[in-house]
Amino acid sequence: MIPITWPEFAHIHPFAPHDQLLGYAELDQQLRDWLCQATGYAGISLQPNAGSQGEYAGLLVIKAYLEANGQGQRNICLIPSSAHGTNPASAQMAGMKVVVTACDAQGNVDMADLQAKCEQHSANLACVMITYPSTHGVFETQVKELCALVHSHGGRVYVDGANMNALVGVAAPGEFGGDVSHLNLHKTFCIPHGGGGPGVGPVCVVADLVPYLPGHATGGIHVNGVGAISAAPLGNAAVLPISWMYCRMMGADGLKQATEVAILSANYISARLKDCYPTLYASENGHVAHECILDLRPLKETSGVMAEDVAKRLMDYGFHAPTLSFPVPNTLMIEPTESETLAELDRFIHAMIAIREEIRQVENGHWPQDNNPLKHAPHTAASLLGAAWERPYSRETGAFPLASLKQVKYWPPIGRVDNVYGDRNLSCSCVPVEHYA
Ligand SMILES: *Cc1c(COP(=O)(O)O)cnc(C)c1O
Repeated sequence: MIPITWPEFAHIHPFAPHDQLLGYAELDQQLRDWLCQATGYAGISLQPNAGSQGEYAGLLVIKAYLEANGQGQRNICLIPSSAHGTNPASAQMAGMKVVVTACDAQGNVDMADLQAKCEQHSANLACVMITYPSTHGVFETQVKELCALVHSHGGRVYVDGANMNALVGVAAPGEFGGDVSHLNLHKTFCIPHGGGGPGVGPVCVVADLVPYLPGHATGGIHVNGVGAISAAPLGNAAVLPISWMYCRMMGADGLKQATEVAILSANYISARLKDCYPTLYASENGHVAHECILDLRPLKETSGVMAEDVAKRLMDYGFHAPTLSFPVPNTLMIEPTESETLAELDRFIHAMIAIREEIRQVENGHWPQDNNPLKHAPHTAASLLGAAWERPYSRETGAFPLASLKQVKYWPPIGRVDNVYGDRNLSCSCVPVEHYA
């Protein structure tokens, strides 16, 4: 991270004259070349500042292509129900009409339904948006047939590349049938990931769509493209050196190894926890892709415990909870990535197994369903150190459910909040208007 603070990278203005930006131009070119190699696409723009902006840009590219080829009436965008919420939002913003297609019981795109919708909308089909591997954490084996089906109806295939960390070096969307993809350099290519940024969501396309990639008023290669997607010609350029360094230092072999380790880690967690929390979706051989969705729904019946309770209890064990209730309500979706060590994965697995034992104490009636360490989690120091203690479990169980936590303990600063109440009752934290009177 330090090099991006060097003045040579950090102190240049995005609109500095071109002859002062030669270093950035070279970095942009090299990074685009590498990302094209990784994705199998012919052209790429680094302008979009988020995956969602890459989607928007990519759909505008498809639209511009269709219009230029006398197919401007094609405005239907097919999206499977498993899609990330940004997919339909982007299609809507790009002026397309979203038609949702079904998923089967295994979480895969329902090919029969997709075929029916392709036939129904054949004359007006603009594209399909799929995610590969899917948001259900599975490699769908029919992806090539799916792409061919949509192509046979004159539509283009948008492959959401947010899960490219399960593909780099192993498979390329530009080779298995995709026409357009976005990448999330803040997911797959090492840029730190905050909520909504600082991100880079490059849009990559096959050869016949290259002329429509985003352009910029200051010039550049794609003068006939869909126009600027972000204000600056090179987008969020100041963080691009991170992805550049990551690719350069990892090399092709290293990037492939990262993919393999990410997939291995997800499968390791899924396998180690299968007796406690079954994985909801897997391929026929029982394997997952880069993430696994643990099904906690049956616990509601046996113990009253919800995925949210497990998420909150994990804080007492020193973990930030994995993705909660997305894409399936009352599940936990775990994506360990390639970055966590085996020791850290094991620490997480031990916590999850210990929590399953706590749930068993509720199931067998030892603790009431509404008064147990899960329902009261997370435990703050203040909640544990009061004079009175009237819970059916000890303070020690609340704070140190594993002995190892006595060595290293994270203390949650605040107890349980009612998320739903908070979402439904917005309150303004600014000073009231009367204050200014
Ligand atoms: C994260 C994600 C996106 C959106 O990317 P942002 O950079 O957050 O806008 C789109 N699709 C999928 C599958 C994602 O996981």
